[in-house]
Amino acid sequence: MNSVAAEDPLVCPGCDMIVATEKAEVPYGSHLLCPRCRFKLRSPRKDTVNRTLALSLTGLILYIPAHFMILLTFDMLGMDEAGSIFDSIRALYRQQYGVVSLVVVLTAQIFPLLKLGMLFGVTLGISRRIYTGALPLLLRWYQHFEEWGMSEVYLIAILVTIIKMEPTTGISYGAGFICFAGLVLVMACISSTFDRQYCWRRIEELRAERDKEAKAPAETLHLAKGMIGTRAMTSGLVQCHSCHKVVRHEQPPATGHQLFCPRCGAKIHWRIAHSVGTTWALVLTALILFFPANLLPIMEVVFLGVPEKSTILDGIIYFFQNGSHTIGLIILSASILVPVFKILGLSVLLYSINFRRATRLLQKSIMFRFIAFIGRWSMLDIFVIALLCALVDFGFFTTVQVAPAAVFFTGVVLATMFAAISFDQRLLWDLVDMQEQ
Ligand SMILES: [Zn+2]
Ligand SMILES: [Zn+2]
Repeated sequence: MNSVAAEDPLVCPGCDMIVATEKAEVPYGSHLLCPRCRFKLRSPRKDTVNRTLALSLTGLILYIPAHFMILLTFDMLGMDEAGSIFDSIRALYRQQYGVVSLVVVLTAQIFPLLKLGMLFGVTLGISRRIYTGALPLLLRWYQHFEEWGMSEVYLIAILVTIIKMEPTTGISYGAGFICFAGLVLVMACISSTFDRQYCWRRIEELRAERDKEAKAPAETLHLAKGMIGTRAMTSGLVQCHSCHKVVRHEQPPATGHQLFCPRCGAKIHWRIAHSVGTTWALVLTALILFFPANLLPIMEVVFLGVPEKSTILDGIIYFFQNGSHTIGLIILSASILVPVFKILGLSVLLYSINFRRATRLLQKSIMFRFIAFIGRWSMLDIFVIALLCALVDFGFFTTVQVAPAAVFFTGVVLATMFAAISFDQRLLWDLVDMQEQ
């Protein structure tokens, strides 16, 4: 078999348009894009369950050595300081920056582990053909945690740290470094082999098999061909935000009446509740925090007892002055350009909805998906500082400490990431229907 059938009807989660009313065959290795907003609707992967199962198991095996074995050893004037990823988080915690260390421990250690464990559970259940109520729950939570596990950002942070320290310090690589690089490679392979829509369909089929004696088969939706290109909401169809299952629901639910997805159990809503208001609040929070994050020092290097504080911009200038233009550019993008772009971009989208500007919707949709994709990369600078704190600890000679801007900067990253989550991109395309009415 060289293709898989996408379930019917097919509704675009990006713009709420009905794309197909019957099964559409999608060949392996190709994508099915929404003709209106270019949202990637289906991207079938060959043997996705077994490959993801093998990869997630490999990831789990690599996890412990990658996080607890020595990552790097710094040698300065005959003094050695070695540290693992776990040490970098402990170092932050010791410096009274509890919030920052909590975010680092969650994004660099706990969420990647949960992601691997959940994927392992889901694919094991599907491959063994065992349905339990935990299966849809695990996949749903995997989707929630997906962008919050930031191992690949952490790997780039390690490389930046190495380039930053190389001129003054002898660096040797530990077994933790090899294992961590291997872990990130495994995670990259997972993102190119895991087909969540296929897994959702298999979970649904497994449950139907289990329930076939107990219950009548679930209702299948039959839609007229003429409904292609119309808005699902207008046709009385509502799509689950979590697993993208489409169900019939004639009226917007009355207050107090909550509809739950028959496949994954998530709450189903026509549009994310209070999306515009919540997103505005988070964007404004990010904007306010952005100023102290950039104006206050983010890091303090104590050299022979003399403290020298530096801001994010000082760090970038340092790389440019030392000829590391690529690294300078990476930090400039991650720490300044990305947050600014996210704040401005989301403001433009919210403004469009508030003032009903239904222009350039395709560009705006693509911009939103780009904003959601790049959000996590801003954590780069925080990870670099966490690593420097752990590894540059040579007593009186030199140490690195976190400074207050780290708290504000972490706030900017969190606020913009939550803003992208609370924004419902379908509201942009609802503007078209409002104009037509
Ligand atoms: Zn679409
Ligand atoms: Zn669902």
